[in-house]
Amino acid sequence: MDEQQQDINHLFDYNEIDSDQLLEFVSLARFYAASPAGLLKVLNREGLSSFTLQHLPFTLLPTPFMKSKFELALELQPHINLLWHKCAKDTDFLHTCLDNVAKSDTYISKLLDILDRTAHLNVKRIRLNMVRSDYMLHRDIGSSSTDFNLKQVELNTIAAGLINIGPRVQQVHHFTMKYYQQLKNIFAKPHKFQETLQPYFDPSNYSMPPNSADEKSVLAIYTAYENYCSLFQPQRNRTIVLFIVVQDDKEYNLFDQRPVEISLFTKYGIRVRRKTLSQLNKTMKLGLNDTLLLEDDEVAIGYFRSGYNPSFYPTSDEWHTRLIMEQSRAIICPDIGMHLMTFKSIQVKLSQPGIIEKYIKDSAVAEKISSVFAEQIALDGSDRAEAAISRAKMDQTAYVLKPNKEGGGNNLFNDDAINFLNEITDNETLASYVLMQRLHPPSFPVCLVNPDKKPEIAQGNNELGVMGHLIEVDGRVELNIEAGHVQKVKNVKDNESGISCGFGYVDSPLLY
Ligand code: ADP
Ligand code: MG
Repeated sequence: MDEQQQDINHLFDYNEIDSDQLLEFVSLARFYAASPAGLLKVLNREGLSSFTLQHLPFTLLPTPFMKSKFELALELQPHINLLWHKCAKDTDFLHTCLDNVAKSDTYISKLLDILDRTAHLNVKRIRLNMVRSDYMLHRDIGSSSTDFNLKQVELNTIAAGLINIGPRVQQVHHFTMKYYQQLKNIFAKPHKFQETLQPYFDPSNYSMPPNSADEKSVLAIYTAYENYCSLFQPQRNRTIVLFIVVQDDKEYNLFDQRPVEISLFTKYGIRVRRKTLSQLNKTMKLGLNDTLLLEDDEVAIGYFRSGYNPSFYPTSDEWHTRLIMEQSRAIICPDIGMHLMTFKSIQVKLSQPGIIEKYIKDSAVAEKISSVFAEQIALDGSDRAEAAISRAKMDQTAYVLKPNKEGGGNNLFNDDAINFLNEITDNETLASYVLMQRLHPPSFPVCLVNPDKKPEIAQGNNELGVMGHLIEVDGRVELNIEAGHVQKVKNVKDNESGISCGFGYVDSPLLY
């Protein structure tokens, strides 16, 4: 372990603090998270009112992330926005990546069908993409290098969550950092690294980068709405933004969404309505001039915070609703092409040599983007796939087995992956999975604050999410920005860090 890494590991030493004081600290931080930070979720439990709130699971203090890699992730975001955007408009590219998967996946084949039925219509004069690119730092096991590389875990193009949570966690962490500093001054024991590594040891030597993810998500939706109004001149007070959502009593993450609605209205007078896909079946229709109508309102933007897996399309009616959205002139975020860009098989294709260069002409930029891609292998029966399967069966630390699914909790790790690969041999099923190089991030001491449990001091790994928004009007890119960030932490004992599947803790980066 190199010196700086050793030092980072001792940045926050929870054992240094008296245990009663730590509990008092956590209890205060929980209140701070609830108010003023509003780091909240809705507790959708049987028998409780639909307005029962809890704080989100969060880390007591921010976790370290290498400054140079953080800056690289931010710098790359507009280029990544553009790459995904260009690929999303290339129907041949989408088919090349997904046709094989679609043979055994009816959800993807139905999405491709909508693409084929609408791509030629050219009704989408305005496009809006709001994505989140997730990263881990990675160093090969046993590597003698002291450095970590930035690696993209995935890019979410539909219903990317936590887009507004980053600034709230950071607000909590500005408070807890100050508080911790005081406690440390009272309780600190002489530390064996303290003398030699003094310049790094003081948390105030680290910085929490500015984060305006909340403002930028509102800005993106507002800018797209304004473009719609100036292009089509609709009756403004009857022109809405529609959030296509999970049924309210099943959605925990309303504090990621409702503040956007409130800001759009208070700042710009834009009215937002929320509907599930199924609620739209009877109320949504196409109007004159390809307008998309929800009862008597014209939909300028349909913003998906649901719809990312087959459970949202229980009948052919939901598929019909998805189709008419695509046939309309409304801005659908994401449109069908961009929705298809979320699947893991897209990442596989993009990680192959020479592909990015077709879309990104600046070779230095293309090279930087490829440097953050991990090894990804399609299970297509090729020699490369067979070799990877053999290696995956022998070495649990080599790969993660991923289906083309969204929403967390779907990946297979360790024995589960090996058992699956031993059992499943039919090519069609295998084709819907990819093997992704397993990333080995650094770990840090963390204090995990879960609303339902006692605070837990553990070793954790972090994962950085960077938001990106892009707007195109009549083929011209009007907005292309890096739009803030959020971090998640998981216990090293767990494989996944999804907040919705109960393993993840929202967090913010402390740059070193
Ligand atoms: P989903 O689309 O379901 O969110 P992800 O690709 O983001 O799927 O994976 C979910 C989680 O699994 C990640 O947040 C991360 O914790 C873990 N994970 C995914 N890929 C890897 C990998 N290559 N190495 C290690 N962990 C991974
Ligand atoms: Mg995802």
